[in-house]
Amino acid sequence: MSLTVLFSAPEAYWERYRETLPRAFAEAGLDVTLTRAAAPETVDFIVFAPKGPVSDFGPYSNCRAVLSLWAGVETIVGNATLTQPLCRMVDSGLEEGMVEWVTGHVLRHHLGIDRQILSQDGVWAPVVPPLARDRRVAILGLGALGRACAEALAALRFDVMGWSRTPRDVPGVACQHGAAGLRAVLEAAEIVVLLLPLTPETDTLINAERLDWLPDGAVLINPGRGALIDDDAVLAALDAGRLGHATLDVFRTEPLPPEHPFWAHPKVTVTPHIASETRPESAARVIAENIRRSVAGAPLLFLVDRDQGY
Ligand code: NDP
Repeated sequence: MSLTVLFSAPEAYWERYRETLPRAFAEAGLDVTLTRAAAPETVDFIVFAPKGPVSDFGPYSNCRAVLSLWAGVETIVGNATLTQPLCRMVDSGLEEGMVEWVTGHVLRHHLGIDRQILSQDGVWAPVVPPLARDRRVAILGLGALGRACAEALAALRFDVMGWSRTPRDVPGVACQHGAAGLRAVLEAAEIVVLLLPLTPETDTLINAERLDWLPDGAVLINPGRGALIDDDAVLAALDAGRLGHATLDVFRTEPLPPEHPFWAHPKVTVTPHIASETRPESAARVIAENIRRSVAGAPLLFLVDRDQGY
């Protein structure tokens, strides 16, 4: 069977996927025409990234699934024209990158690495950091990425807590869930990592009240989505000395505007949405596998739950 797959993503993506996707389709035994333009009714699948050409999915009446190149689907999940199944990206490359970024930034704060880098001043003032086993780290969100990060930190022997919407079991991680679990996790966490999707329920989850639950001097690390936090509340908590540091990779407006106070704040580290990225080689295989499954009548992988928004 010959299939038409429409690639709806910004120009830069095309360069990365124009060869990797056809290679993955061939490896999966699929006969595919990959195109950036086709009559809507001829399209069998859409590969999607935000800011691509397709925003009205209505005319794609024969499209069997929309396959996102992004893990976060907040820009598309509420699109009223999207009646086709939507799959998000779960990619081993994306996961590895996130584990490295999160582990690196947790270790920076745990070991007090800034103290050494910023204090080459001839003063010999040893401060020995505690062992990881004595550092409580909370991961909010125990999905593909949060779970991998929690496991990696637990393997380094951090005292790891996790929080999710429904009960989860991660070896070596003290798991909590739901509204009741959140307070317990935040009250204990010296370092908090946000790996939640952006949904109506998680929007501004980290507000002034919840920041107040954290121990004094706690560190906030956000590689999830910018709107998970209340920017002004985070700045106020930093200025009051309640929050020790915020390491932020994602923002309500991206690129983060030059005048935003996060840039100049001495207790904020800004990274430009680089915590992790979908890697074309492994992601193309995920897309191909989902198309193979759909054609074979097997259940799709990583199907988005529209009601939950992720
Ligand atoms: P998943 O969908 O696999 O996991 C989401 C997790 O969040 C689940 O554990 C889920 O709970 C939990 N969750 C969702 N809603 C709530 C809620 N209301 N209360 C408590 N927990 C909740 O997502 P991924 O791990 O793949 O990705 C997480 C996010 O990371 C993405 O949505 C994206 O925003 C961000 N991201 C950022 C990148 C970057 O470079 N900065 C790169 C890639 C992703 P449950 O287990 O019960 O379902």
